[in-house]
Amino acid sequence: MSEKVIIEKKSAVMPTYNRFPIALTKGKGSYVWDDNEKKYLDYTAGIATCNLGHVPDVVKTATEEQLNNLWHCSNLYTIPAQEALAEKLVKNSSGDQVFFCNSGAEANEAAIKIARRYAQQVNKTARYEVVTFNQSFHGRTLATLSATGQEKIQTGFQPLMPGFRYLPYNDIEALEDLIHPETCAVMLELVQGEGGVIPAEPDWVEKVVRLCQENDVLVMVDEIQTGMGRTGTLFAYQQFDFEPDVISVAKGLGSGFPIGALIARNNVAKAFDPGSHGSTFGGNPLATTAGLATIKEMTETDVLEKAIEQIAYLWTKLEDLNTKYDQILDIRGRGFLIGIEISGKAIEYVTKARESHQLLLLVAGEKVIRILPPLSTTREEIDQAVGVLDQLFAEIN
Ligand SMILES: *Cc1c(COP(=O)(O)O)cnc(C)c1O
Repeated sequence: MSEKVIIEKKSAVMPTYNRFPIALTKGKGSYVWDDNEKKYLDYTAGIATCNLGHVPDVVKTATEEQLNNLWHCSNLYTIPAQEALAEKLVKNSSGDQVFFCNSGAEANEAAIKIARRYAQQVNKTARYEVVTFNQSFHGRTLATLSATGQEKIQTGFQPLMPGFRYLPYNDIEALEDLIHPETCAVMLELVQGEGGVIPAEPDWVEKVVRLCQENDVLVMVDEIQTGMGRTGTLFAYQQFDFEPDVISVAKGLGSGFPIGALIARNNVAKAFDPGSHGSTFGGNPLATTAGLATIKEMTETDVLEKAIEQIAYLWTKLEDLNTKYDQILDIRGRGFLIGIEISGKAIEYVTKARESHQLLLLVAGEKVIRILPPLSTTREEIDQAVGVLDQLFAEIN
């Protein structure tokens, strides 16, 4: 028998993910259904992507209309939805201009490119180095995995791209080594998502920003997981006392439609001129229509105000669990980006939550249960989820 026959029963999809053994076929609001019509409360939001819940009406209506008109045209023409989405993004952030792409990795790739180009073409220096932090996650392309401060993401892909240096996160003393003569930018997450849900200390962020400003080094925030309302404000940096030079966004930007964006201040944005960067699909009519409907909902309605109330409610409930159970070592995060560090194995809780309680959760590393409710979640759903967690902590010891 040939090897082909033996492996034939396996999926034709490469095993880059450890997939859970259910197939989701429908979603609405905070809920999803599998192909057996089993209903789950989804507190993963497609990994911080479906921030308005599944199939939000406003985005559905807008994209349906766009589907009837024009799906794609190249960036050689003006794309009205792209212009409007860019306007919205700059109006609601520290940036002045936007470059559109299709994913988070591509947004960070563009950030790394614009930082080098700004240093070399605008500032006329020979700087190229981007400093990032241990446990960070910036993507899976060669440049962005080189930027990522996690060995497991890099293993087997050597040689890495040169031009990155990593420092310990939240370590004020280590910042003495932040800026070298070749450093052109610092890239950071304000809550490290994939790295274990570790929130940045405000004092530390303040010092990073001050050192960068004193040395004409760009501050680039990776808001791919923290952005689009996830932490209670449109961007997480808005809860700190600084304005970044460059912001990367993706995940929540299109409510599930693939789109990424790089937002930069004028002085930096001008480093990209015709021919210096591009993307065939980036900012296409369908994707930017989904993005425009999403950001309108977040900035023109009370979605964020309501989310802030539910965030406070969920955190109080989680604090109660924290005092009740010894196996909870830490509860941390910001807004609706929450990690519960436990003494056991996080995957055991996540599996049992799904199989026995129809609640979808995530892990972040081995010991952290990650909870990412949609911003639109209700008090009743929070009670349901916390009730499940309570039961799980009582059952698993
Ligand atoms: C998910 C994520 C990325 C990568 O985004 P992709 O769309 O998967 O390429 C980069 N940075 C952060 C902080 C992320 O959470």
